[in-house]
Amino acid sequence: MPRTLTARALGAGRSLAASLTPPIDVSATYMRDADNGYSSGHVYGRKDNASVQQAERQIADLEHAREALLFGSGMAAATTLFLAASPTHIVAPRHMYWGLHVWLAEAHRYGHEVTFADMADLDAIGRAIRPGRTGIVWIETPSNPLWTVTDIAAVAELAHRAGALVCVDSTAVTPVLTRPLDCGADIVMHSATKYLNGHSDVVAGALAASAPSGLWDRIAAIRDQHGTTPGPFDAWLLMRGLRTLDLRVREQSRSAATLAGRLAGHPALSAVLYPGLADHPGHAIAARQMSGGFGGMLSIRVRGGAAAAVKVAANVHLWRRATSFGGIESLIEHRSSIEGQGSPCPDDLLRLSVGLEDPDDLFGDLEQALAPGPPISSPPSVRWRPDP
Ligand SMILES: *Cc1c(COP(=O)(O)O)cnc(C)c1O
Repeated sequence: MPRTLTARALGAGRSLAASLTPPIDVSATYMRDADNGYSSGHVYGRKDNASVQQAERQIADLEHAREALLFGSGMAAATTLFLAASPTHIVAPRHMYWGLHVWLAEAHRYGHEVTFADMADLDAIGRAIRPGRTGIVWIETPSNPLWTVTDIAAVAELAHRAGALVCVDSTAVTPVLTRPLDCGADIVMHSATKYLNGHSDVVAGALAASAPSGLWDRIAAIRDQHGTTPGPFDAWLLMRGLRTLDLRVREQSRSAATLAGRLAGHPALSAVLYPGLADHPGHAIAARQMSGGFGGMLSIRVRGGAAAAVKVAANVHLWRRATSFGGIESLIEHRSSIEGQGSPCPDDLLRLSVGLEDPDDLFGDLEQALAPGPPISSPPSVRWRPDP
């Protein structure tokens, strides 16, 4: 009967064609065998969705990891790791993704003690680590929004000698430029919202581990219990984005390096922060640790303080004023006002996420926005169409 046919989606559970692109597995539950078993290995959507697992496999392979887990956001990924760990002492960067810094500053609620350290300074990290007491050393490199570089291999050696695990937030570089697990880290974390998806249309996160462990099993259990898995549509979009990850990140890195080089020494700027510049304090480590580029993110500090910086952001036409990064479109952000109270971000700093537009157009737009005097609303050299 039609009612039965439609209700059963004309062949539920079977692949209808030898599709080239992966289908989206939207199933919230999976069929059980007559003998009461689950020979497919899939039981229920919160834990076993096939599209989510497919994306996880791709991320694990990219990171040279044994296993990866996807989450509904980068924050969900990071906080699940800390919730899964038995109460311990954590060493984390003073300069890092601010949302997670805020959470860690309150992690005593979960029994953790946190020391924030200058992660560009190995001696400071060594002093912060308490042998036998520190359980986790958290690295973000290059870190938001000053693009501070941390030597993952050197920190891993220090941490492992003290009995601590090393976790790396690798959101800004992606496995295209750095594979933290190959440098000795134990777990790598991503906000997949950024480069991994790359199209500013998914919020997701990931963890990937080099080896099985009790902690990893607890992370998986808590994700299942808290239900912080992403939906299959987001996982599918993420896979679609991942297909061009390598091309996007390489091109964005190339454009960011071009822009950093051209902006360096600009009279309206007091600093250009980019690990690819020879005068960046982390340049030597970055050159060793990153392969094929220094990333698509840079920051500029505008002479004249917060008001001058906000004015530059107001005067751009091509760059979009928005938070987040890693997408196709170039974004400009007055970072300290989004981080809010207590943020160590200088208030004259603009964070730039370089997209896939022509770097000459991107530079021209910044140049006219940095020019003294009243804003030029539509200069003749501007080849894109300004917003209406
Ligand atoms: C965005 C971001 C996060 C948080 O990820 P969400 O997907 O926004 O939850 C964590 N770390 C870094 C470096 C980020 O840029």
